Amino acid sequence: MIEIYISQEQIREKVVELGKKISEDYQGKEILMIVLLKGSFVFAADLARAVDGDVRLDFMKVSSYEGENSTGEVRILKDLDEKINGRHVLVIEDIIDTGLTLTKIMDVLKGRNPASLEICTFLNKPSRRLKEVDVKYSGFEIEDKFVIGYGLDYDQKYRQLPYIGEVVS
Ligand code: 5GP
Repeated sequence: MIEIYISQEQIREKVVELGKKISEDYQGKEILMIVLLKGSFVFAADLARAVDGDVRLDFMKVSSYEGENSTGEVRILKDLDEKINGRHVLVIEDIIDTGLTLTKIMDVLKGRNPASLEICTFLNKPSRRLKEVDVKYSGFEIEDKFVIGYGLDYDQKYRQLPYIGEVVS
């Protein structure tokens, strides 16, 4: 059984709020949103439409982190189509858990010399953090629980759910 944890209405309000902040902060600048596949695609689709400005989109897929070993590497499975040097890059993430994956991705992106580089995550589990990440925009801080829906999966299932849910037995 799935219990609703964050409703569609709460999501809608939060996305509008984030979209407003981003629109103000990037006034007059082109924003290159980098969408981390697969989980972030639903949030990114809503967020991009909530931003009033010059938004460009590109997509990246990395292998998810295995284990909690901070010396491990993430593998780029699909790289960006766009060059990011000199551009204002906003990385769109579904959820930050240990922070290990994003830390690695940020290192790769920093090395490509963007004009600015920020993170917007829909969900954040600060209690699980192993690597500090500097998150500029964050939707909801949640407890240490496994959630699904709104792009997030359990074994590739449930990504299409319009809310954030929790699988309960
Ligand atoms: P980390 O921050 O630990 O390196 O990894 C973040 C990634 O782990 C997310 O992008 C997501 O794919 C996955 N993840 C972390 N917590 C959850 C969760 O509660 N539900 C789901 N479906 N995926 C999660």
